[in-house]
Amino acid sequence: MAEVLKLEVVTPEKYVISEDVEIVMAPGTLGEFGVLSGHTPFLTSLKPGRINYKDSTGKENLIFVSGGFSEVLPDRVTILAESAERRQEIDIDRARAALERAQKRLAQEKADNINFDRAKIAMYRAIERIKIAETQGL
Ligand code: ATP
Repeated sequence: MAEVLKLEVVTPEKYVISEDVEIVMAPGTLGEFGVLSGHTPFLTSLKPGRINYKDSTGKENLIFVSGGFSEVLPDRVTILAESAERRQEIDIDRARAALERAQKRLAQEKADNINFDRAKIAMYRAIERIKIAETQGL
């Protein structure tokens, strides 16, 4: 069985990380999943949320991911995300402004309008970014 596990998180704009890790938790659309080295291969889509991983020193780290796809192999987890940022890269003021905009739109749009759904997803992205940025000690 393979002993190393490489985590790669990529967006259309950038390489977010490429690192050897001990364990990865990610927000699959069917539920959060965890991967250790030697995992059975699978593919899944991702919903907006957080990737939590332990690096090779045992330190926990958080990454925001807005959704995308993940390929799991015994020695590698590849995440292709629409957008993603490490916890330290999140601009919390920007996320708070995005939350305010989304809340205003939600108050203006009717629930059957596509803009209402867009605003709801934008609000969820902003809330998750704020929660991750405010997490201490990771
Ligand atoms: P905003 O309305 O502030 O652009 P958004 O949720 O619409 O937020 P995305 O479409 O998910 O933004 O991302 C667009 C780009 O901006 C991506 O490169 C993403 O990493 C970056 N980004 C978005 N919000 C933040 C943030 N709060 N801090 C750092 N980078 C961000």
